[in-house]
Amino acid sequence: MSRTILVTGGAGFLGSHLCDRLIAAGDRVICMDNLFTGVMLNIQHLIGNPNFEFIRHDVTESFKFESIDQIYNLACPAAPGHYQFNPVKTMKTSVLGTMHALGLARKTKATILQASTSEVYGDPQVHPQPESYRGSVNPIGPRACYDEGKRAAESLMFDYHRQYRTPIKVVRIFNTYGPRMHPFDGRVVSNFIRQAIAGQELTIYGDGSQSRSFCYVDDLVEGLVRAMNTSSDFTGPVNLGNPHEFTIAQLAQSVVRLVGGNTTIASARPLPQDDPMQRCPDISLARKVLNWESTVQLDEGLRRTIEWFRSIDMSQFRAPTPNY
Ligand code: NAD
Ligand code: UDP
Repeated sequence: MSRTILVTGGAGFLGSHLCDRLIAAGDRVICMDNLFTGVMLNIQHLIGNPNFEFIRHDVTESFKFESIDQIYNLACPAAPGHYQFNPVKTMKTSVLGTMHALGLARKTKATILQASTSEVYGDPQVHPQPESYRGSVNPIGPRACYDEGKRAAESLMFDYHRQYRTPIKVVRIFNTYGPRMHPFDGRVVSNFIRQAIAGQELTIYGDGSQSRSFCYVDDLVEGLVRAMNTSSDFTGPVNLGNPHEFTIAQLAQSVVRLVGGNTTIASARPLPQDDPMQRCPDISLARKVLNWESTVQLDEGLRRTIEWFRSIDMSQFRAPTPNY
């Protein structure tokens, strides 16, 4: 029997790929999004499918459904430039949005998965980061609206679980990239690809020695679905990400090589405040419980992402507006 699944943030980068995946599996999907950073283009191909419903709604306002089997709570701007645009709203989205989703899960007895983040580890002092690491977050810095919002959301998840026995799954997502990333989100992969295609200088912040590990979107979505469908005693948190670490300078070189042309690499500006120097997931738990690991190598993932960037009309993706 097909399940009814709510995906908040379903018109965004990860959410839209997740909707595709669930629809392909025969599920009924309700996609809820306020289109702050998500775009209709991402889900246009699903409109008209009898198993797919799009609802434009802001998760900071409550929402009700009679019957829901699973909730993937993804609504939240994810790129630093997006979540810092209106930091108060970002915090409200994480905290109120997660409370509303949890309230719905409690009422409908749905299992709820929270899209948490490697940012709960802040600028980590332990490397790579296991789930047991409690992090090093600056609670008053410019990234706090996101990091602390996501940490509060994790607390709420576990409180609902302990207090009301709500079935929960907390997944900590590390940097993910691929087709449908917002071309103007200011994140490093989208900036570098957009700049390289336009023949502009690639803007490295700092000296480029800071590291990240980049997971291709299809791998990540597979991990989300596996985490959601674990046995009821598994709550997470579980890290999902690619354990292969690259410096930002290495990423720049790869993008230049794959895009071709005469692009150069420039050290554009100092490292932003509280920018983590290193980030890499310990995925032992995901390997063990989900039998999951990323499979798409960086070069292959970048090739697919570059192809998509070349194919789209970037003007369909607007930057955040003051009306938000
Ligand atoms: P995204 O910005 O593309 O998607 C977020 C979606 O949420 C967008 O469609 C946006 O319009 C929607 N949204 C934002 N605020 C909302 C609100 N108040 N009400 C309703 N909808 C709202 O980002 P993404 O990369 O797809 O990230 C999805 C989730 O995964 C986020 O929760 C993010 O924190 C988490 N995550 C992503 C990454 C990554 O590398 N992409 C890493 C860690 C965690
Ligand atoms: N970065 C960069 N140039 C850019 C955009 C980002 O050097 O044009 C750096 C950024 O300072 C950080 C890393 O790339 O060290 C990853 O940034 P991103 O915003 O993609 O994600 P984060 O992991 O910081 O949330």
